Amino acid sequence: MTYDNDNIFAKILRGEAPSFKVYEDDFSLAFMDVMPQVQGHTLVIPKDPTQDIFNADPIILGHTMETVQKVGAAVKEAFDVPGIMLAQLNGKAAGQTVFHLHFHILPRTDGVDLKMHAGGMADFAELELHAQRIKAALDS
Ligand code: AMP
Repeated sequence: MTYDNDNIFAKILRGEAPSFKVYEDDFSLAFMDVMPQVQGHTLVIPKDPTQDIFNADPIILGHTMETVQKVGAAVKEAFDVPGIMLAQLNGKAAGQTVFHLHFHILPRTDGVDLKMHAGGMADFAELELHAQRIKAALDS
């Protein structure tokens, strides 16, 4: 499968689709998942056009993981949770729905179950507030 330049994350990277950004550097971008499985569900993507982990340049992957680590810590602080789950799906059979490599950052708390994957659209005002909380934690 070749990389589809019109996937939604490629459009976000080109500024053709909106997103609730929390962090950006030369190699990666982090933004709120619009169909969060839990409050604070954040995505990290490389800027490189890569559909999954197997096609990723290891150097780019390293930079992306650095962002996952940084943003994951900020999400943990912003949502004051004891645990952070990372998820990363490769291929339709694994549940991947957007074919641009991405890492899910999912705040976890005992007794709080995850909602269904890509279950329902969040309130955008709430996502904006969540993005601001994470940005504040990144700046602190
Ligand atoms: P995956 O199934 O691992 O490919 O995950 C794709 C994720 O992207 C899902 O959790 C969706 O809720 C999320 N998603 C889809 N479209 C957008 C969008 N425009 N902005 C932010 N997140 C999105």
